[in-house]
Amino acid sequence: MTWSGWFNHGAPAGGFAGGPSIVSRNNTVCNIYVRGADNALWQKAFWNGAWHDWGRHNDGGVLASEPAPGSMGDNHEHVFVRGTDGNVWSKAWTGSGGWSGWFNHGAPAGGFAGGPSIVSRNNRVCNIYVRGADNALWQKAFWNGAWHDWGRHNDGGVLASEPVADTMGQEHEHVFVRGTDGSAWSKAWSLVPTVVLHLKILTAPTSFTVDQMVQAMRTVYASRGINVALGSTENLNLPLLTDLDVGGCTMGSTTTEQNQLYGNRANVGNDHVAVYFVRSTNPPSNGCAAFPAGRPSCAVSSTASSWTLGHEVGHVLGLPHVTPTDRLMTGGGTWNVTNPPPDLDGAETTTLVNSALTVNV
Ligand SMILES: [Zn+2]
Repeated sequence: MTWSGWFNHGAPAGGFAGGPSIVSRNNTVCNIYVRGADNALWQKAFWNGAWHDWGRHNDGGVLASEPAPGSMGDNHEHVFVRGTDGNVWSKAWTGSGGWSGWFNHGAPAGGFAGGPSIVSRNNRVCNIYVRGADNALWQKAFWNGAWHDWGRHNDGGVLASEPVADTMGQEHEHVFVRGTDGSAWSKAWSLVPTVVLHLKILTAPTSFTVDQMVQAMRTVYASRGINVALGSTENLNLPLLTDLDVGGCTMGSTTTEQNQLYGNRANVGNDHVAVYFVRSTNPPSNGCAAFPAGRPSCAVSSTASSWTLGHEVGHVLGLPHVTPTDRLMTGGGTWNVTNPPPDLDGAETTTLVNSALTVNV
């Protein structure tokens, strides 16, 4: 084994900006992608044992960054770019369907700098990483067959370059950046116990936003290494239930009204938890964790505390009430939450991690 000499691949007519990027979706194909001097996507392909000439993607796409190509299988390839609107756009190729049109992935709140970086650690997952305008790492993920919204890595990391992402195996992923100290930094992802929530909103909460509730839950669960993922968020309009109360709240015993409500499980996998945000529960409480067999769900009242979401989902995952009122799973009285946030003890953590509703992703 030894290195060859350099081989000249030429350039698109008119030249190109920046550097090339490449992807091999299988052992017989390699594609070079560049941002042409005309800001179109250009491609040069190796297949059938030979390099073929440069071709222009005449689809109206105008690139504002170098392209970031990737693959989610032997017969799949996609290319991500920054568009002139500051959003991430992609187009995909499949063996059966050829090239798709451009798909808009939006951008982190506040926008991002430079171009996107992508990685697929296996055929079911793709992650886009960018340097946010706030210099934090932002991520948008494809899993469970759908794209999920942008999320910020709230870990104090301050980026001084665009991220580069890669994988060392089906269940490993890492991101490298330049730090403000001029050093290269990285963080890695590996399998973590994850609770997947699907939020179904009938009546928005009044004291806290849904986002604040999710963040409060994440804070507590993350303190024990458990990830909370948002599978989907949907506004539910149930004409027959405009004045909804969730009557009664006894595990294993659900009312007709609850059964009707919990029947709405669009996008909810069997090992996922649906959360219904309702006007009120009856008897009055912050929420209710009773759910029909096979439909793991809970309800959160519009007047709930920010901790209610994590509390009710805790019940769904198997946690009983505890006595102290400064704990997430307190069973009575008024939540007396100070810093640090309510804890999950070792036994509770074990219950959560071993729950059939906690998936390793
Ligand atoms: Zn409870």
